[in-house]
Amino acid sequence: MGRSGIGFDCHRLVEGRKLILGGVEIPYEKGLLGHSDGDSLCHAICDALLGAASLPDIGHQFPDTDPAYKGAFSLDLLAAVREKIIETGFYPVFIDAVIIAQEPKIGPHYEAMREAISGALEIPSSCVSVKASTTEGLGFLGAKEGIAALAIASVTEMSRE
Ligand code: MG
Repeated sequence: MGRSGIGFDCHRLVEGRKLILGGVEIPYEKGLLGHSDGDSLCHAICDALLGAASLPDIGHQFPDTDPAYKGAFSLDLLAAVREKIIETGFYPVFIDAVIIAQEPKIGPHYEAMREAISGALEIPSSCVSVKASTTEGLGFLGAKEGIAALAIASVTEMSRE
């Protein structure tokens, strides 16, 4: 049986941090603040996958009070989430995601992100879709205070025969 899950995440943009989105370093004057690398796209995808498997969210799986995850590369967390959902009998099938950012331009990095995410999930890159939108300058995202991401994940249930 197929199931779907939804995920959302947002991190604050600050100076002195690398910008990592979808496991890819993007040249920009600021980066995302977080206990991990602040990769809001990977975190949204993690929560979408966990949701599809009815598992508790990423904050429960990788607490930001745990020093083990300080500076964590979120692509590694995504691979760990894959393992967790497989343990409960689900395999990732398809990911669709949208990054919400006023800056920088995300389009030139779509393919690298799809490769990185599909590598972590061990699915074809044709099964990972990454898109981006601005908010036309509206709100905190439009003011470049942060970068958000939304994701939906489809999973399939393994036969238990
Ligand atoms: Mg996060």
